[in-house]
Amino acid sequence: MNRCKEVIPIILLVLSFLYVVKIICAPVELHKVFHYQSNASHLSLGKLIFYFDEVPEITVKKREHTEFMHEYVFSFSNATIVLQEVQDAIEEIKLGRYAYNLAINSNDANKILDVIFSFDIRDIGFVRQEFVAITGQKAVAFNFYNKHTLERLQKKETGPILQTTCNKRHPIICIDSGHGGKDTGAIGINGTKEKCVCLSLAKQVGDELKKNGLRVRYTRLSDEYISIEDRICFAQKKNVDLFISIHANASSNRLISGTETYCYNPIFSKTVYTTVENIDMSYLHLYQKKMFHKSFAFAQYVHEYLCDTLVTQNPYFCDRDIKHGSAQVLYAAEVPSILVEVGFISHPDEEKLLNSFVYQQSAARAIVRGIKDYIAST
Ligand SMILES: [Zn+2]
Repeated sequence: MNRCKEVIPIILLVLSFLYVVKIICAPVELHKVFHYQSNASHLSLGKLIFYFDEVPEITVKKREHTEFMHEYVFSFSNATIVLQEVQDAIEEIKLGRYAYNLAINSNDANKILDVIFSFDIRDIGFVRQEFVAITGQKAVAFNFYNKHTLERLQKKETGPILQTTCNKRHPIICIDSGHGGKDTGAIGINGTKEKCVCLSLAKQVGDELKKNGLRVRYTRLSDEYISIEDRICFAQKKNVDLFISIHANASSNRLISGTETYCYNPIFSKTVYTTVENIDMSYLHLYQKKMFHKSFAFAQYVHEYLCDTLVTQNPYFCDRDIKHGSAQVLYAAEVPSILVEVGFISHPDEEKLLNSFVYQQSAARAIVRGIKDYIAST
């Protein structure tokens, strides 16, 4: 008996040690990869973002091919790619031609994931950031900047490139209906698909905006799959002034209900590496802060009208507030942008409401009042 008492703590100690070893040695899984290329005249030239379940250990090697042509190799150690679609996304990114040379070497058997950039340091600079995405995934982002535009920013030059204000007379609003096609989004207990609720809401918001004399562009008007990259490129090509992404929420807890609105706040992204050393980056931070204030004001108008309206029609309504989340569309957008989660499709009663035309119409009208008031305030 006494011996047992002596052995048990030792076994427990060994088991906890093995558990810690398992955690430390477990590979970090790459869930998603996303590359977005901007217009060459923009401040941002492109973004490459990796979404992991945990931040992997990253090492960097720098090689100077010539005085100005530099190469950076980032190695993600012990990273694994489980999903074929992630491997496919990497292959697609490798085929593209960008303002910078970009290569990705992945060998899952050896847990190798290397990202290699090379560019002329006179033209391009990049900043590596880390942040937590809305989904809880840990993002590692490489942001490429046009160095000449950064220099102009430093000289406090203003111009259309850095215009953050809305075209008040004839603003164009981009309505991004979440998900679509093979991407159904969340599915409610009664079978409601998030993609259908988003599309119906987006159309009603668009119709209402047009009735108010505003110009509208939709990222989708049918049940089709559109990648996040294409949504952002679309908004950029159409020179939109505002971007609103419409979604319905979901939780494993069916009792959770209510409305929440997201906007991206740069303070939650930690800069961990930069090649831009001879430029005062505080001007870039100032510019990003200005953009955040605009997005936040936009979120406030829309969220408040939505809450004031939906609380009168929904006994399960809960104001879940404005959150500073880094959804892909918000991180990459270059105009004031918000993402609205109108209600929880996973809450059976809210699911029914989200499906009803009357509730959708009320939500759409509230969103439009918010958009109009935001524009009037700029
Ligand atoms: Zn969604």
